[in-house]
Amino acid sequence: MTYDTQPKASHFVAGAYLEDTGGAEIEVIYPASGEVIARLHSATPKVIEAAITSARAAQKEWAAMTGTARGRILRRAADLMRARNRELSQLETMDTGKPLQETLVADATSGADALEYFGGVAATLTGQHIPLGQDWAYTIREPLGLCVGIGAWNYPTQIACWKGAPALACGNAMIFKPSETTPLCALKVAEILHEAGLPAGLYNVVQGMGDVGAALVSDPRVDKVSLTGSVPTGRKVYAAAAEGIRHVTMELGGKSPLVVFEDADIEDAVSGAILGNFYSSGQVCSNGTRVFVQRSVLEPFLERLTARLADAVIGDPLDEATSFGPLVSQRQLDIVQGFIARGQATGARLVTGGQRLDLPGYYLQPTVFADVTDEMEIAREEIFGPVLSVLTFDDEEEVLRRANDTPYGLAAGVFTRDLARAHRMVAGFEAGTCYINTYNLAPVEMPFGGSKLSGVGRENSMAAIEHYSQLKSVYVSMGTVEAPF
Ligand code: NDP
Repeated sequence: MTYDTQPKASHFVAGAYLEDTGGAEIEVIYPASGEVIARLHSATPKVIEAAITSARAAQKEWAAMTGTARGRILRRAADLMRARNRELSQLETMDTGKPLQETLVADATSGADALEYFGGVAATLTGQHIPLGQDWAYTIREPLGLCVGIGAWNYPTQIACWKGAPALACGNAMIFKPSETTPLCALKVAEILHEAGLPAGLYNVVQGMGDVGAALVSDPRVDKVSLTGSVPTGRKVYAAAAEGIRHVTMELGGKSPLVVFEDADIEDAVSGAILGNFYSSGQVCSNGTRVFVQRSVLEPFLERLTARLADAVIGDPLDEATSFGPLVSQRQLDIVQGFIARGQATGARLVTGGQRLDLPGYYLQPTVFADVTDEMEIAREEIFGPVLSVLTFDDEEEVLRRANDTPYGLAAGVFTRDLARAHRMVAGFEAGTCYINTYNLAPVEMPFGGSKLSGVGRENSMAAIEHYSQLKSVYVSMGTVEAPF
C-alpha cells in the first residue's frame, strides 16, 4: 500500500468527521491487490438522524444567501480540487482500481468542472416576469430543500460533485451516500467544500449499504433523491421516493449501441470503440457495448481493434504508464466472467481476451466477441466490464431498428463521414446522450442522462437546474376583483 487511505472517520456530518463504531464494518479493498486499505462503519440510525437534522437546520440560511455568495464557495472548492488533483486522483485509484493515467484527467477534474460551472450559474438563477394584460405574474425559483444523492462505485468523486454542485448552487442541502465499495472519495469532496467556506450541515456524507440508502430515501424530511446505479436499484429507489411524491433523478444502466458505417474513418471508429468499452475497465454506464459494424468493413475493424488492444498497458494502476486496470471487486469480476463464459457457450466468437490475468487483484483481459446476434445475453444485458460485442449489419434502416431494440436508452453513437446520415441516425436513436464520430465524452456544459429504462432527469448543464429547484408562481392583480356573486 502506497498511500494513507484510512479516513479520520467514516462519516462527514454537520461540517466535521463523525464516527459511530456501532455500525457494521465496511472493508475498503484496493482492487489491484485485494488488500484492505481502510475500515469504515455503516451509518447507524443516530448518524442518519444527525445528518438529516443538521442538513435541514442549515438549508434555509444557505438558500437566503445571494447566488453570488453561494457560487463563490463552490468556485473556491473547484480551485482546491484542481490544486489537489494528484492526491485526489491517487485516492480515486486506490478506491476504484482505475489507472492513475485516467483518474488524473477524468475524476477530480470533472468534479471541479461541475463545481466551477454551477458556482458560476448560481448567481444567474432567477424567475420570470409574465405579462397578463393589466395584471401580471412572476415566478420565483426556489430550492427543493434536502436532497439525497446515492452513488455507484465507478466514479465516486465525479458522482459526489455532479449531484452536490447543482444541489448546492440552487440553495439545497445534500446528504450523499457513496457506494459501500468505494466510500473514500466523497469524504474528500465534503472536506474540500467545507474548507472552501461551505457552512456546516450543507454537504454530509454517510456510509452504508442499500439499507442506509433506503432509510434516507423514505424519510419524510427528504425532498429529492438522485441515484446513480443499476436499473433494479433504480426501481426500488424510485418506488420509495414515489411514496412521498419526492423529486427524483435516476441515472441508471445501459446497453448502448455504437454504429460504424463503411464510410467511417476506421481508425477513429476503433478509438471510439476503445473509449466506449475499455476505459475504466469497461465499468462505465454509457458504454457502447453493442458495436454494430457494416459487413464490408468488419474484418479491417476487427484487425485494427485487436492490434490496438494488444498495446494496452495492463498492470499497477498507480503507475502512470498503465492504461488498463483491474475491475472494482471480486464480485464484479465473477459477474463479468460469468457473462464471458455464457457468451462463448451460446456461440459468440471470442476474438481476443476473455481470461483473468495472473496478477493479484481483479484483472481481466480486454475482451472482444464477434458473430454476436441480437438475442444473445451478451448483446442484451449490461455486463459492466471490459467486454465488447461486435454485431454486423447491412443497411441504415436495419441497424437503427436493431440499435433501438433494447429496453435501455442511455447513449448511442455513430461513426460515418456522411453527415446527413449521422443526423438521421441521431434523430432516430432512442437514447438520451448521442455521439457523432466520437464516444463517451461528458462535459459539464452538455446535459447527460438516459431515456427508457436508463433513467429520468438530466445531470450537468442548465438542464440540471430544473431537477434541483422548483418554481413558485405568483399572480399579481392590479385592479378590482370580479366575482359572480
Ligand atoms: P447499484 O444499483 O448496485 O448501487 C447504486 C447505489 O445504490 C449504491 O450506493 C448502493 O449501495 C445503493 N443502493 C442499493 N440498494 C438500495 C436501496 N434499496 N435503496 C437505496 N439505495 C440503494 O449499482 P452499482 O454501484 O453496482 O453501480 C453499477 C450500476 O450503476 C450500473 O448499472 C451502471 O450502469 C450504473 N451507473 C449509471 C450511471 C449513469 O449516469 N447513468 C453512471 C454510473 C453507473 P451499496 O452498493 O453500498 O449497497
